[in-house]
Parts: sequence; structure tokens; C-alpha cells
Amino acid sequence: MTFKDLKLIPPILKALAKENYSAPTPIQEQAIPAVLARRDLFGCAQTGTGKTAAFALPIIQLLSEQPVKPNARRPIRSLILTPTRELAIQIDDNIKIYGQYTRLRSAVIVGGVSQKAQEQSLEQGADILIATPGRLIDLMNQSLVDLRQIQILVLDEADRMLDMGFIHDMKRIIAKLPAQRQTLFFSATMPPEITKLVQTLLHNPVKIEITPVSSTAERIDQSVYFVDKENKLKLLNLLLQDRSIASALVFARTKHGADRIARGLNKANITAQAIHGDKSQNARQTALNNFKSGATRVLVATDIAARGIDIEELSHVINFNLPNVPETYVHRIGRTGRAGLSGVAISFCEYEEIPYLKDIEKLIRKPIPKVEDHPYPMVNTDPAAKPEKSPSRR
Ligand code: AMP
Repeated sequence: MTFKDLKLIPPILKALAKENYSAPTPIQEQAIPAVLARRDLFGCAQTGTGKTAAFALPIIQLLSEQPVKPNARRPIRSLILTPTRELAIQIDDNIKIYGQYTRLRSAVIVGGVSQKAQEQSLEQGADILIATPGRLIDLMNQSLVDLRQIQILVLDEADRMLDMGFIHDMKRIIAKLPAQRQTLFFSATMPPEITKLVQTLLHNPVKIEITPVSSTAERIDQSVYFVDKENKLKLLNLLLQDRSIASALVFARTKHGADRIARGLNKANITAQAIHGDKSQNARQTALNNFKSGATRVLVATDIAARGIDIEELSHVINFNLPNVPETYVHRIGRTGRAGLSGVAISFCEYEEIPYLKDIEKLIRKPIPKVEDHPYPMVNTDPAAKPEKSPSRR
């Protein structure tokens, strides 16, 4: 199957050829014809499957085929809602690449940065708007954005939007859209709230399921180290002495934790930066760019900050803390091993995280191999024990 077989128009094919996309991914093969046929879509798929292009390409095609009145202000015809700023910016970057040979314009609306530039891009007119719910609501309340001409709505990472408490904002936004529209809904997981939303929002949707969450990451080499909390940083330092770890995305549970880990690594002369919600948008983007360019070797992130970040050729994901939601583990490790590459996912498990490990193993339906032989084996099996009771080694 080629992109040409999917009946994409020449300006899009040209952009894809320039990007060296040789063949559509499975989600693209299934989604593109359905969206072009104006069907509603429900995609159960996660980042890394090519889902952005799966919805962006047919949207660009449908909109660019409609005549626009010369000199008239462009109405926003497609709205893409995403949970995080990084994801919104990334989707916009992709849309600009895919649409570079069309006349379409896109704009991004995200929180954490000045509103002025966003107002200006709306004034200039955009065909496609990519937004996080909070800032979009702000602008709607100020009557700065008109959603009455929306034809296609995309809800991307809907499960994450629910997790982040955006459900009311989402509903308020959707209530302002024309009832007669096409809705494309993507979610990596299927909790009951998502099933309910799908039932209310979608009409006779085409359903596409790509790599169920429990069976993802078959290609990823996973391992777990049992280690006491206070020895985790030492173990991380030790592992990172291995220069074959070219780049590592380290997941921390908290913002403070992320900062602490980055500082600790810097002290050991390992280049690292933290990325989390307390950092300004500029600081986050800089950290991300430094990581992508290889200027920093380690990016330490919280789940929310890392959501949607697209890093090609990431070799290692390290879970400094295990997540309490097992699906999050699958999302995290899915950052490596993309596009057919193999990846490595290492997890540190302290005594209190053992139940999380069990939940994860249940979800992925296999045990994660334990690394027994390492210098900081877990000795602290009493959760009430004070850290200093644990003998420090080395
Ligand atoms: P996504 O799941 O949308 O985050 O996409 C994951 C990565 O795959 C992104 O870096 C895309 O640029 C890339 N990608 C998407 N579709 C293709 C394709 N058909 N061929 C090659 N790379 C692709």
C-alpha cells in the first residue's frame, strides 16, 4: 500500500515524499479513507503509531479541496483538541509540514505563554486550530475565537484529557460547535468514561484499534531493578556511565523529583535537564530542543510534561519511579522502540512500588525480567523504615 493508493492529492504526496514517508502505517491505511469519506472515527491507538498523520492528512485534503473566497477572512474549519502544549505544538509542526504545498493555515492556542501572538494568528485567519482546552475556553470567553464554522473536530489523547480534568472544558467547547460535523476521536486506553463519551459524540463511527495497550512494546527490551529509594540516583548514575546509552528519557513522579534527579546527574557530569509543568513554555521547549539535538543526554520528565513529546531514535526510557497507573508504563516505554527501532526500558522499583509492578505485569501479561546482580540491591523492605537505616553501598 502506498500513500497514492489512499487517494491523497499531489500537494500532500509531495510533502510526504519530502519527509521520506515511504508507506502508510496501519492506522493511516485505515483512517485516511474513512476520514476522506466523511465518516466519524474512533481510533484506539497511542503515540508512535503515526496517528497524527492519520487524521491530519485527510483533514488537510478535505479542507484544501473546498474553495475559499479570496480576500475573505478564513473561518476555522477544523479544531484539534489535545491535552498538552507540547503535543499541540507538535501537531501544528506536523500539519505545517504536511500542508506546506497547500494554501491552508494553522494556528495553535496553548496556555503558559502570552495570549497576544495567539490573538494575532487568529486575526490573520486559520483553517485549522490546534488547542489545549483551558486556553481555548479563555479565548472563547473573550469572544476572540469563532467556532461556528467547524466541520471537523479531533479529540486527540482523549483519555489523557479526562485524566487531566479537562472533561468540563471539553464539553463546553463541544457545545459551541455545529452539531452537524465530523468527529475523530483518539484514545490510547478505553476506560468506561471514554466508552460513554464515544457513544455520545460519535455517529456510526469507523473503529480502528492499533496495538492494544497490553501487547505494545513487544520489541522493547524491558528490565526492572529492585532498589531502595535512596539509592536510585546512584544506580542511575552508574547505569549512565555506559556510553552506549546515547539518550535517555527518565520519568520522575513529581516535579521536585525531576529537578532533583537532573541536578544529581549534572553533579556527576552527566548532561541532563528537567521538563515539567512548573517550567515556562520556553524553558520546556529549550530543554526538549537540547535533548533532541543531543546537547543534553538525559531528559528528566514528569508524565504530563512528557505526554506527546515526539523524540525520534530515543534509545532508553528509564522509570525512576514506577507509575501507579499501569497504562502509564506502557505509554512511557512506548517512547522508545518507535518506527521499528528496538528500544530499552529500565525500571527502578522500590519496596513500596512492588504493587505497581504487579499491576503492570498483569496488564502487559508477562513478567518484566529482574536484574539481580547490581551494586544497590533492595534491602529496605519495611516501608516505615527511615532511609538512613539502609546501608549505603559503594
Ligand atoms: P505519531 O504517532 O503521530 O506521534 O507519529 C510518530 C512518528 O512517526 C512521527 O515522528 C511521525 O513523523 C512519524 N511517521 C508518521 N507516519 C509515518 C510514515 N508513514 N512513515 C514514516 N514515519 C512516519
